Amino acid sequence: MALIIRIDVDRPYGKAPLFRHVLSRISSDFYLPKLPGLGYLAELENMLIALNNANARAYVFFRRCTLPPKHVIELLHAGQHEVGLHLENSRSFDTFRQETKIVEDHFGTKIAAMSKHGSGGSKFGYHHYAQYEPAKYMEWAERASMRLFLGNLEDPTIDPIISTKGLLTFPSAFWLEPHWRDTERFTVDWLMQRARDRDIVMLVHPENVLADPVLSSDFETIIHNLDTTVLS
Ligand SMILES: [Zn+2]
Repeated sequence: MALIIRIDVDRPYGKAPLFRHVLSRISSDFYLPKLPGLGYLAELENMLIALNNANARAYVFFRRCTLPPKHVIELLHAGQHEVGLHLENSRSFDTFRQETKIVEDHFGTKIAAMSKHGSGGSKFGYHHYAQYEPAKYMEWAERASMRLFLGNLEDPTIDPIISTKGLLTFPSAFWLEPHWRDTERFTVDWLMQRARDRDIVMLVHPENVLADPVLSSDFETIIHNLDTTVLS
């Protein structure tokens, strides 16, 4: 039994300082070449270095505007992390297939895991379809012969589901960022206990976790003290 680390790579340039926030927004809606001098995926890179130092493995979910350059792909390979689709345009099976293909073409490999960008409500960017419809994603993931869907519910006590076709779904996650967590009930200590006797997903966004000293420290404690797993 182990911790399943889910990294959603939302922002190509993070959100600080302001000009990087603006670049993130522009990249999300329009094409923008990757600008390493301005810290393209800098937060993800630092998070992967921390994971690799701790021998901890993760699922890393990419949007079409956050596809990694070569040196980040090398870090992903070095740590034996698993790459997935962070689905943005969930309007139809076809748009899902298009986004899967963009990620598969970038990595030159079949994608077997997915998560969804946004939990309903706000529309984040030009390609984003805001509604959160997990039953649809499970059906599409099965049709595309994927193995894993990690959902956005915020009650980490909800058990995983395995379908007759072999798709494993974790409907919810322990969101490390407190904005999406019942922090009275679901403390880091709770997570440390829980992950010893069952599989549980911890969701992080690199630009939020690494911007906060307390969350950074919690993240380090967790990855150094829990067994982590990727399931495929
Ligand atoms: Zn997202």
